[in-house]
Amino acid sequence: MIRVGVLDMQGSVIEHVEMLQHIEGIQPIRVKYPNQIGEIDGLILPGGESTAIGKLIKDFGIYQSLKERMIQGMPVWGTCAGMILLAKKIIGEETVHLGVMDIDVRRNAYGRQIDSFRIEKRIPMVSENPIPLVFIRAPYIERVGKTVEILAEHEGKIIAARQNNMLVTSFHPELTEDMSFYRYFLQMI
Ligand code: GLN
Repeated sequence: MIRVGVLDMQGSVIEHVEMLQHIEGIQPIRVKYPNQIGEIDGLILPGGESTAIGKLIKDFGIYQSLKERMIQGMPVWGTCAGMILLAKKIIGEETVHLGVMDIDVRRNAYGRQIDSFRIEKRIPMVSENPIPLVFIRAPYIERVGKTVEILAEHEGKIIAARQNNMLVTSFHPELTEDMSFYRYFLQMI
């Protein structure tokens, strides 16, 4: 069994857990406490509110062990707010959360909640066919470091990328039926 954690502070935790439950050989684990960090083979940082999640990982005393395991190479996938948590820089803000991935992101880059949207796109590294992508007050990436691979762009903005053990997506695969990104992430584990 591969144990895939979902960071359980705030946001779309249950939705990721339910998607993982559909995959054979995967045991989803809701991660809240520092002692759980050593028990997982990979971790999903869900969408939600990055400011709240960033504060809670400190309050729950999980920040340091999370960051260490990511630097040591634990596979991690940040969706939406999760992408913001991983970024080295948040444009226009002083805040840096985990700061482990060499990307600069812009928060709420597409406007307000009402400007949320859904598109279909083929992402060659991830799926042969077009897949649904759901954006909710989504960030996009404005700069990537040399070792970051761009996986997808939309209207000239980077919306999915990977740097070694770290994967980020602006959108929410857990709010669709499509498993392509889960399969891609599991290959990283
Ligand atoms: N707007 C949120 C933030 O900045 C992210 C939204 C999401 O995760 N769907 O944290």
